[in-house]
Amino acid sequence: MPNLIKNKSLKELNTFGINSIADNFYELNSDIDIFEFIAEIDKVAKPIYFLGAGANTLFTSNFNGSIAKINTKGIVLKFEDDDYLYVEANAGVVWDDFVSFCVANKYYGAENLIAIPGTVGAAPIQNIGAYGVEAKDIIHMVYYYDIESFTLNQLEANSCKFAYRDSIFKNELKDKIIITKVLFKLSKKPTFKLSYGNINDALKIKGIISPDIFVISATIKEIRDSKLPNIEVIGNAGSFFKNPIISKEKLEELILDFPSIVSYDVSDTEVKLAAGWLIDNAGLKGYQIGGAAVHQNQALVLINKDNASGKDVMDLSKYIQKEIKQIYGVDLFPEVIFV
Ligand SMILES: Cc1cc2nc3c(=O)[nH]c(=O)nc-3n(C[C@H](O)[C@H](O)[C@H](O)COP(=O)(O)OP(=O)(O)OC[C@H]3O[C@@H](n4cnc5c(N)ncnc54)[C@H](O)[C@@H]3O)c2cc1C
Repeated sequence: MPNLIKNKSLKELNTFGINSIADNFYELNSDIDIFEFIAEIDKVAKPIYFLGAGANTLFTSNFNGSIAKINTKGIVLKFEDDDYLYVEANAGVVWDDFVSFCVANKYYGAENLIAIPGTVGAAPIQNIGAYGVEAKDIIHMVYYYDIESFTLNQLEANSCKFAYRDSIFKNELKDKIIITKVLFKLSKKPTFKLSYGNINDALKIKGIISPDIFVISATIKEIRDSKLPNIEVIGNAGSFFKNPIISKEKLEELILDFPSIVSYDVSDTEVKLAAGWLIDNAGLKGYQIGGAAVHQNQALVLINKDNASGKDVMDLSKYIQKEIKQIYGVDLFPEVIFV
């Protein structure tokens, strides 16, 4: 059984930098650690929270249970066919190390997901996405332990119920499983997606007409770095809220009052609103509660400005939800998980 650490500060283990104290803390560094932890789960104080890099987690107070940090490493090319390469990574692998591995080897498909903080094991949970690509586009299989039945299972991507920042792991399987490995399917041929955001513009400025995987990933990283606060300097969890999906009818109503509202088509009947625009237009950039604030440049990012507590961030997020509902009649839902 992995070592138990009592009263562990989680400050360095969540990107918000919230100084929550966990009553019990375990680090699972190998498949054997995971196996033993689950085998002896009856003895582990509840509730249990499986933690990756804490890049999508808000600790709202001290944690009166057990944190199990997944720290298993290892990336391996399992097999290949004429068109695809199948790469397996353990859950604790840093996501960006996995993407960098793919880029370095010219395994195509993951490059737009460069520089997203977090671990491989958490990527399927909310189907991470950026610049027109989602984890579901490259996930082939997810391997997990079912904690209750103590069985090792696998789910093919098309059974994971992947949707916008959503999956079966956030719903039916929530709190019931621990993801151990993910098998990815990368392409042998370039399949670049450059139309999203300002990738094409950034490449044009550089005078690059036929970019390769190295230039594309570097350019996307530069764009991200210029837009998002550095987690090493300012605690945050990236986009705090999901972009709300509303009907086209509702959009037409909103356009009458807010002609410059930003939206993207998602189907014949629905659009996705830019949550950042809603917050910015509500005049909330820079708004602060306790030590938590809305980022001055990126309204969708809440920051730990001044030694914030988890409650400060939670109170700020609730205030924003209330204001957005009042102004636009639209519900905002957090992307970040409150613990
Ligand atoms: C600066 C910044 C930028 C970001 N940009 C993006 C972006 O562009 N796109 C995007 O989609 N997200 C983005 N995010 C959010 C974050 O990167 C992702 O949600 C990421 O997947 C979180 O990984 P993690 O390991 O830190 O998860 P954690 O916060 O540790 O955990 C998240 C959830 O996954 C569960 N979990 C973690 N590992 C396992 C496991 N092995 N088994 C079972 N459950 C597990 C946890 O219990 C929790 O429910 C950003 C975050 C930051 C800080």
